[in-house]
Amino acid sequence: MTKTYDPTNIFARILRGEIPNKTVLETPHSLAFHDINPQAPVHVLVIPKGAYVDFAAFAAQASAEELVDFHRACAQVCEMLGLTGADGYRAITNAGAHGMQEVPHYHLHILGGRVLGRLVE
Ligand code: 5GP
Repeated sequence: MTKTYDPTNIFARILRGEIPNKTVLETPHSLAFHDINPQAPVHVLVIPKGAYVDFAAFAAQASAEELVDFHRACAQVCEMLGLTGADGYRAITNAGAHGMQEVPHYHLHILGGRVLGRLVE
């Protein structure tokens, strides 16, 4: 089932420049910025500039160019923030109510800088 994209969501407003953000990286199709409420020493959100509600919408609907741009941006953020060494990092996305997604614009959380613990409670 396709979910309708809400253009008033907070990340759409960030993309329109209505709300400030601490940008880590901007590419033609993606934006990476620090999470406002970091859960780890490194906590960056990477979003596509296109209007996609969640991972499934992005993976199914984005162009090849957008998909490559987004994943390369994620990799570049990991490299820039020193996460690609032996200690590692976590890249995770939430979707919908069960996934406890708060902002309905697809985003990948990139977390690192400490041992993150098990994923599921
Ligand atoms: P979700 O639960 O949707 O996967 O994660 C949403 C994330 O967005 C949360 O980690 C939250 O702290 C972050 N967030 C919410 N509002 C803002 C904001 O205005 N600016 C930034 N930089 N992050 C935000």
